[in-house]
Amino acid sequence: MKLTDCHTHTQFSVDSEADIEKCIGRAIELGLAAYAITDHCECNRWYSKEHYPDETTYQYFDFGRDFENSVSAVTALKQKYSGKLNLICGVEMGQATHNFEIAEKVVSDPRLDFVLGSMHQLPRTEDFCFIDYTEYSLDGIYDLAQCYFEEIHKLCKWGKFDVLAHLTYFMRYLKCKAKIDIDISRFDDIISESFRLLAENGKGLEINTSGIRQGFGDTFPDLKYVKLFREMGGEIISIGSDSHTVGDIGANVADGIETARAAGFTRIAYYINRKPNFIEL
Ligand SMILES: [Zn+2]
Ligand SMILES: [Zn+2]
Repeated sequence: MKLTDCHTHTQFSVDSEADIEKCIGRAIELGLAAYAITDHCECNRWYSKEHYPDETTYQYFDFGRDFENSVSAVTALKQKYSGKLNLICGVEMGQATHNFEIAEKVVSDPRLDFVLGSMHQLPRTEDFCFIDYTEYSLDGIYDLAQCYFEEIHKLCKWGKFDVLAHLTYFMRYLKCKAKIDIDISRFDDIISESFRLLAENGKGLEINTSGIRQGFGDTFPDLKYVKLFREMGGEIISIGSDSHTVGDIGANVADGIETARAAGFTRIAYYINRKPNFIEL
């Protein structure tokens, strides 16, 4: 069975130093049927710092510059490695709901093959990876989770991306950093409704395998929610390692495929020119 990795980062992401050509070399070595580079583009930090005088959360901006650097590099490398690798020019677009104007600009870039829709941060709150959860009561944490799923619902309603990335992402930090485990089943109604919107609009759900290697011990989302996506009519699944290093490319994607299978899916997708291509499992 040929593996795909449709969520990876390179030197053009703020949190990665992975040399892009080394990444490509590794993807070729692994024989990936499709390899998507999806560097970060946070819509709420598109411009430089001066543009956001009231922004007091984490201090990284200029994602418009990062986006251009990544997409132009990958576009050139697609030519260079043509015939050797199915290289996909993607983006991990964060927080479209915080600035739809920027999000529209991103998704209309004709060089893009693939757009992951992500939510790393809630309005007026830090990125989930920077939140000090010890400052929150358990009720406060459930309130954060509620806001997260409401924001995901808003994102799905807008729906101009291809695949919803790492649903339940915030639980990575909650469980791995703060050692807090919550039961998100109380949000199943809004999650179902978000899945229904995705399915209706022909959008996909990502099985993100980073949690397996990072101590969360499962995919984002886990099997229960991949199954729920299928029950709500979802047909498109993409698998991504969310690698930020050369060595993590392709990590646990075989496990992600097992999750897709266990949920009843018989194929997985990768995108070229914003259209899904399917690999039978
Ligand atoms: Zn992400
Ligand atoms: Zn990512």
